[in-house]
Amino acid sequence: MKKKLIALLVCMAVTQSLIAQKDPKQDSIFREAAKTEEWKPVPVKVTPGQTNSDAPSDAIILFNGTDTKSWQKTDGTEPGWKIDAQGVLNVVKGSGSIQTKEAFGSCQLHIEWKSPAEIAGEGQTRGNSGVYLMGRYELQILDAYNNPTYVNGQAGSIYKQHIPLVNAAKKPGEWQSYDVVFTAPVFSANGALQDSARFTVFHNGVLIQNNVKVKGNVEWIGLPSYKAHKSKEQLMLQDHGFDGGNPVAFRNIWIRPL
Ligand code: MG
Repeated sequence: MKKKLIALLVCMAVTQSLIAQKDPKQDSIFREAAKTEEWKPVPVKVTPGQTNSDAPSDAIILFNGTDTKSWQKTDGTEPGWKIDAQGVLNVVKGSGSIQTKEAFGSCQLHIEWKSPAEIAGEGQTRGNSGVYLMGRYELQILDAYNNPTYVNGQAGSIYKQHIPLVNAAKKPGEWQSYDVVFTAPVFSANGALQDSARFTVFHNGVLIQNNVKVKGNVEWIGLPSYKAHKSKEQLMLQDHGFDGGNPVAFRNIWIRPL
């Protein structure tokens, strides 16, 4: 008993000293970021059923397991992500986000993703990626299976803007789907916002975002705001690479411009 107590005290002391060693500048950045985190209400858990995910005849196939020819890095060079023997596209940590070569406006999007079966990291560092419509409006990808985090940043959130209606997450390592109906924003000639972007999202077939109004570009720190852009922009998938357990995998991605 005494040994256990000593071990606990040593552990606490080490944790304390680790906290004390944290870079104060980075500390203040995270304190700023925390100002826009919401932790309540926690979305109710729902067990999803099976979904039909095959592409319809008029869809543009963005990834079907064979190649990444529809994709590039954000600087226009070859994507650094790797297709494995199972035809799955895996994020390669630190290689950078990827975006479609083609640009899209309003669309219907189907995408399947999987967070790592082996859990590493916690909260925002557990299976973090993201689907960025028009390269700037993020539908969050995260392992949301018994993984507490701020709820406006959990899987299915429009990051730091809209909490999902329920938590329809499957276990880490299981394939999950997003079916998205996205309406592009409209800007007037002088760049003023005329009509907000909107998201409707089904997670594993369950409605989690019901025609919600986007408040502007995704922001980690500070509040979102719109910056005028073209009527069509590239779809981006996030490499959240700089920390922990985020080797997210993708398959079966198709889109129908509306
Ligand atoms: Mg993300």
